[in-house]
Amino acid sequence: MNSLNSINSTNLINPSLDLEFARDMDKKDTLKKYRDQFYIPLVNGKQCIYFTGNSLGLQPKSAQDYAIKELENWANFGVEGHFHMKEPWYSYHDFFPEKLSKIVGCKPQEVVVMNTLTVNLHLLLVSFYRPTKTKYKILCEAKAFPSDQYAMQSQAELRGLDPDDVIIEVKPRANEYSIRTEDILNAIKEHENELALVFFGGINYYSGQVFDMGAITEAAQAAGAYCGFDLAHAAGNVRLKLHDWNVDFACWCSYKYLNSGPGGIGAAFIHERYVADKKFRRLTGWWGYDKSTRFKMEKGFKAIPTAEGWQLSNPPILEMALHRAALNVFDEAGFDELLAKSKKLTGYALFILEQINKASGKEVVKVITPSDEEERGCQISMLMMQNGKEVFDTLKQNGVIADWREPNVIRIAPTPLYNTFEDVYLFGKILQSLTLNK
Ligand SMILES: *Cc1c(COP(=O)(O)O)cnc(C)c1O
Repeated sequence: MNSLNSINSTNLINPSLDLEFARDMDKKDTLKKYRDQFYIPLVNGKQCIYFTGNSLGLQPKSAQDYAIKELENWANFGVEGHFHMKEPWYSYHDFFPEKLSKIVGCKPQEVVVMNTLTVNLHLLLVSFYRPTKTKYKILCEAKAFPSDQYAMQSQAELRGLDPDDVIIEVKPRANEYSIRTEDILNAIKEHENELALVFFGGINYYSGQVFDMGAITEAAQAAGAYCGFDLAHAAGNVRLKLHDWNVDFACWCSYKYLNSGPGGIGAAFIHERYVADKKFRRLTGWWGYDKSTRFKMEKGFKAIPTAEGWQLSNPPILEMALHRAALNVFDEAGFDELLAKSKKLTGYALFILEQINKASGKEVVKVITPSDEEERGCQISMLMMQNGKEVFDTLKQNGVIADWREPNVIRIAPTPLYNTFEDVYLFGKILQSLTLNK
């Protein structure tokens, strides 16, 4: 047995690179029954090793029932479905705040399900990017997800500003892959007289680094700037405490770790201290209007005093039905349990990668995701030191669905709802055979 004490931080007792160990871990897994609640795609007639829950989560088997139910309601009730049925569409979004608030760590009135991620980011930047003559800059991470970069650039242009002057990026030091918290905090301090906004991913999509959102928020606010996060890779993946961290705003999508379907409905968080301020700046639409008098259809906007006050349109029920199905599975499994299993699964994957490097006698895979358990979620980003694309393509032919990021990174994300220790083991075996003696 190939046991290693150096990875005690992964909660695994004597991990080893053999099938028996992996199967034993699966046997002890109290969440194992949830895998059967998802459709696992087949490759060459066999269930694949699906490691791209960070990109598109798998379909819960219950999703079709929830969607079909709403199609039937539409067929049977037509417009009456808005108000006159058991679960009327009019209040369908009320199913979400309670469940989502547990996942992102906030109060139910601080969260709303609406639109999609980049749309919500634009809406929130309208509210929270308030440049003045002297304080107009936005501080963000280098290599932010492209859509976020474009959103920030166009918001600067919209205010008549030059994005190159507005946007300050903090990057990793030379030969490092994650950004040191001290460097982020120092950059905020250094620019405190000119900062209007600090905006980061909760987790960087490329490296998998979890940022210290509490510390960043505190520093941003001390500099007199608003602070927001894109939680695309964080929601449903790591512990979040948006309310307690005092974050001003955040947005995320539901189709990654939250398994709610391609292009599924997004969500936004707006801290309690703004939601009751009906005059707080925003773009408005009728669905953000006070519910008791919305249908009087009167002039003059009266905001709902919760995050719902940011809604524009009556929402897409079919997307919300899929989201509801997925969150019910999440809720039933329990977020604490999911997080505990996630740490073990990812820890096992890291252990295996270490073994592969050892067996090769050199570093064939360089993990660029932070090793500290607090600074990573499910995702491991592997910088491939040789034949990266070839390894990736062969993994795929062997039923491992991972993803490729130029120039040389393979990302894998073993997720706790439907991945197994055996998945991780088999992936390791295949990777080892592709890298050994090459
Ligand atoms: C996935 C992802 C997006 C995608 O945005 P959509 O508007 O949902 O297409 C945006 N930002 C980040 C950080 C992401 O990871």
